[in-house]
Amino acid sequence: MDEGLSKEYICTCYGEDSDMYMGAVAPPIFQSTVFSRKNGSHGYTYTRVSNPTTEIVEKKIAALEGGEEARCFSSGMAAITAAIMRCVSAGSHVIAPRNVYLCTRKLLENYLRRFGVETTFVDGTYITEIEESIRPNTSLIYLESPVSVVFTLQDLEKIAGIAKTNGITTVIDNTWATPIFQNPLKFGIDIVVHSASKYLGGHSDVLGGVLVSSKKIVDEITSNERVLMGAVMDPHQSWLLLRGIRTLPLRMAKHQENAMKVAEFLEKHEKVKKVLYPGLKSHPQHELACKQMTGFSGLMSFVPDGDDKRIMRFVKSLKLFHECPSWGGYECIINTPGVGISDKTSKEIGVPKGLVRVSVGLSSAEEIIGDIDNALKQI
Ligand SMILES: *Cc1c(COP(=O)(O)O)cnc(C)c1O
Repeated sequence: MDEGLSKEYICTCYGEDSDMYMGAVAPPIFQSTVFSRKNGSHGYTYTRVSNPTTEIVEKKIAALEGGEEARCFSSGMAAITAAIMRCVSAGSHVIAPRNVYLCTRKLLENYLRRFGVETTFVDGTYITEIEESIRPNTSLIYLESPVSVVFTLQDLEKIAGIAKTNGITTVIDNTWATPIFQNPLKFGIDIVVHSASKYLGGHSDVLGGVLVSSKKIVDEITSNERVLMGAVMDPHQSWLLLRGIRTLPLRMAKHQENAMKVAEFLEKHEKVKKVLYPGLKSHPQHELACKQMTGFSGLMSFVPDGDDKRIMRFVKSLKLFHECPSWGGYECIINTPGVGISDKTSKEIGVPKGLVRVSVGLSSAEEIIGDIDNALKQI
């Protein structure tokens, strides 16, 4: 792609040609399983292999990440599984941060063990711990920075360097920062994966995943993991994702603005023990965060000062927040990964007791802060 295209241009115009769609400004949903080759050589055959609506999204996301190619999948986990399967075989060893997305952790820790793939889980913030975990059979260092519950970071440039020296492939889950705020390929990471169900879609109405890498790696994954396992994005899903992406830069700017205000408010509040948000100067890795990201999204955690019962009273008193998993949509969401866990579990999963996680949505910051302030009075 052309260097220097703005991300706003990529989201609104890039990769589209309305002349091909009878002038339609909004590209059509090519809701077709199969493509006839009787009178043409357009290159499409079957939607499990490729689809014109899906390809528009793939071009945009590849350009946003500064990668050569992208492919869409039916969910974030489908993209993650495809990336990991590309990098392991029987007897392989993987290194990953302890706090990776829970389903990714289960895939590595339990499921892949059946196939003789072993994973060492590390804190992720210490380079020496990662270096010391490398074995002759290490084929993959899997990253997620920041991790989406406790918001610790991994140093992408240093880890990519170590991996290259040792012939190890690197994959990162970049869902939190989005391609608007972090482009890991620039630091030498090999494969970027996203759950498109969060900010990329942005409206809590689409499940999807995407993977970005060099043409060589993407071609391999396309003809192996994507076509053989078959978890492709369907054309309607792609169209919803395309519509979401149009406003991605605008939405991320607003999520960041709101989240910064909420984090600063929480940090000063007497009933809050601790705020975990890489955008805050008090975050232990704030300097690294500013080095490898250009902004901060709207998801953060904090620990209210109270027992589980009081914390749940706070949660139930919120009026603007839905209580559910997931994040990255226009709405405000709270969930409670640190409530109801024992000291032992808290240590094992590295989640502080009492921790709640909030996805700061697109209402006005004043309303959101007012709602949290009111609810904190219930503690
Ligand atoms: C939600 C999520 C996923 C999984 O994505 P799905 O689209 O739900 O499969 C992966 N990584 C992170 C960080 C997530 O938040």
